[in-house]
Formats: sequence, C-alpha cells, structure tokens
Amino acid sequence: MKYVEEFRDGKLAKILAAKIAAETQPDRRYHIMEFCGGHTHAIFRYGVQDLLPKNVRLIHGPGCPVCVLPIGRIDNAIELARQEGVILCTYGDLLRVPVSNGVSLLRAKADGADVRMVYSSLDALKIAQDNPDRQVVFFAIGFETTTPPTAVALKQAKALKLANFSVFCNHVLTPAAITNILESPEVRKIGTVALDGFIGPAHVSAVIGRRPFEFFTEEYQRPVVIAGFEPLDVMQAVLMLVRQLNDGRAEVENEYTRVVTREGNVKAQELVSQVFELRPSFEWRGLGVVPYSALRIKAEFGDFDAENRFTVAAGSGKENKACECGAILRGVKRPTDCKIFGTVCTPETPMGSCMVSSEGACAAYYTFGRFREEKAGA
Ligand code: SF4
Repeated sequence: MKYVEEFRDGKLAKILAAKIAAETQPDRRYHIMEFCGGHTHAIFRYGVQDLLPKNVRLIHGPGCPVCVLPIGRIDNAIELARQEGVILCTYGDLLRVPVSNGVSLLRAKADGADVRMVYSSLDALKIAQDNPDRQVVFFAIGFETTTPPTAVALKQAKALKLANFSVFCNHVLTPAAITNILESPEVRKIGTVALDGFIGPAHVSAVIGRRPFEFFTEEYQRPVVIAGFEPLDVMQAVLMLVRQLNDGRAEVENEYTRVVTREGNVKAQELVSQVFELRPSFEWRGLGVVPYSALRIKAEFGDFDAENRFTVAAGSGKENKACECGAILRGVKRPTDCKIFGTVCTPETPMGSCMVSSEGACAAYYTFGRFREEKAGA
C-alpha cells in the first residue's frame, strides 16, 4: 500500500537507527515527548524505542482524547443517558471508561440507559432523524481532528431544523495542552520532567497546520518535528530533533510533508470557527483546569447545545485512587510505575482511561511492551 509499506521498511529502520546512534552525543540525554497517542502506539507496536540509543528517552504525552477527558464529564454523559427518552451516542472507546463508583457508559447501558456506539457524528444525526420522538445527544470528544465532523453535524442539524438533536461538546485543543505541560511546575520549576523537544501530532497538524507550533519554538525554545504515524516517520522525527538539539536550534520542522502544510486545512478551520468558540477554561484529566484549552458551541447554534437543552452539573468526579493516569498524562510517570498495571488493571479489566483507549499509554505498554519493561526493571 502506497505511503504505508515504505514507512515500515525494516532495512530503512536499521539505517535510520544507525544514523541516530551516530549523531547522538554520548555525554548528553535527549528527552523527547511524543504528544499523540497514535505515536505512542506506533513506538510500541514496532519497537521503536528498542532501536534508539539508551540516552534518547521517549516520553508519552496527553494526546489521547479519551484519556484526557475528566471523569466529571463522563459522569455528566451518564446522567444525560439516564434521562427519560434520551439516546446518547458516542465513540466506542468511551463506553468502557470507568468513572465515579466504577460505573461506565457500558454499565449504564446494561442498566437500561439507551447508549449507542457510533463511528461518526453523522451516524448520530441519522439516529435523530430516525427517532423523532426521542432526544438524541452526541457525546463529542477529541482534538482538532474530530472537531470539523462535529461542526458539520451541527450545521446539518440546524439546516434540517432537527429539534431532537444536540451535542455534548468536549472538543479540546492541542497547543493549549502543550503550553500547559511546558508551564507545569515539574517542567519549569522542579525540573523533575526534562523535555527537550516534541514530536508534533500528525492528524491534528493536517487540520491546524504547522503554524500554531511556531509559538513553542519561539517562546519555550523547544524544537517541534511534526511526524506521521508510521515507525519510520517517528524515527526520522527523532533524528531531526537530535540534529536540532545538537545544533542548539528550536524550530518547527515537518517530517509529514505528504499531508501537513504550514496553513493546514483552511476550509476545516473556517467551518470550526463558524460553529465553535473558545471556552474560557476546561478541566483535563492530569493537567487540571487549563485556560482556553477547549471549544464550546456558539450561541448561534445554542439550540443544539446539550448543555443548554439539559441540566449539566459541573461534576468533579471520583478518580480511582490507585490510578496514575493523571501523572502519566503529564509525562511524570510511566504506566509501569502504577502499582496495579497489568495485574488488577488490564485492557479486559481497565481501572483507568489510559488502559481503555487504543491510544492510551497503559494500553500500549500492556499490549506491546509490558514484558520488556518488566524485564528491564527486574
Ligand atoms: S495501569 Fe490502569 S490504573 Fe494504572 S495508571 Fe494505567 S489506567 Fe490507571
């Protein structure tokens, strides 16, 4: 398959690994955060970390939309789903996230709530058209990649005058999360998390372009290399970051030139700005309340905002005390630092969102790297 097989070529991977090894300086360490859960999975699936020198450390970031959603918002969705006459539609990963008191959307469904898994916002819209006597709520989550389809659904609902469709909006913004990490005490003051550079997101950058990342390189003097989700993309990005760090440069470079441009998808950006506006603040799991880090539905589309149509309390939610998802999402801990990783908490019996989502760091460690990690720690 074009643009896939050639980016998984083992021989090229070895050549790239040799270049990285030759260009890293033995007396320094390179701390590189891959923001996206898609990169985390590529790293573990293809054993990328094993091909890198020991002084290049990959740190897993918060770029998993299911993982960063605070428990309180999922509690809210469960409350919505339990209301008389409501059909709550959302993506599959969200259904199994355990929230307060061990409940999940799937458990609520088993108890009688009408919760349905959909593959897109337009599936939810269709369910609303097919069920005019029911209120259909689309539980929308995700970074900049999934926001345009939600905007399309809202515009269509308005055009169709669908009185029984609304969106519970939880769309979040990548640049705000990276800023929050760089401003965190662990990075800025305490220095317990060293971050030398970032592998920038692939799909998100296809929408927002490379321009928003220029701020980090200027303000925080950290290089960013936007990379695709194949293993050779990740390795090439590591090589480009090592070169920048060796040269003392902090620039935005684009490894994913087959998709990402400087301006991004302008049509998608315009669509999003027609329907959404910035929320003054939004809570993230692990990062806490982050200013201007999420979107809300504009007043013009307010009739389709589930937060207007229903009473949605500001819920704080009860985290499982043993779960270290918050620290993992900040890059402070690794999944294997969690005492219940791989024993009580597995993909079959997840105790936290990082083990549920296919983009979560705990799921990636368990599925692809657990035994190596255990061996290394033994
Ligand atoms: S292993 Fe499970 S409980 Fe531990 S941090 Fe990961 S998701 Fe949370």
